[in-house]
Amino acid sequence: MQDHEKRARTEALFRDVNERIAESAERFDADETEFVCECADPNCTHRVAASLAEYEDVRGDPTTFLVVPGHEESDIERVVSDRGRFRIVEKFQAVVRRTVVRLDPRGQAPSES
Ligand SMILES: [Zn+2]
Repeated sequence: MQDHEKRARTEALFRDVNERIAESAERFDADETEFVCECADPNCTHRVAASLAEYEDVRGDPTTFLVVPGHEESDIERVVSDRGRFRIVEKFQAVVRRTVVRLDPRGQAPSES
């Protein structure tokens, strides 16, 4: 479904923004910084305070994303961790999963057959 791909692309775009934010935070030796919410709403401007270690937890898996509590969308993702200030969601919807894995900025090659 095209709508699913569109939402996945939006989330992947926010993920790219956060990769940049994490890079500059590292450069300035910051332990904690403000990331953007990685939900599927292209107009979302919410910020999420998280440590770089927490961010790495999320980014270690190409199918997990960081969102403001309440921004998760239950038809495409499930909450796997609630950290209070933010939630970690895992994509389970097939098209969304495939899209976010394909667009993973860290290039973790999916083992798709
Ligand atoms: Zn959001």
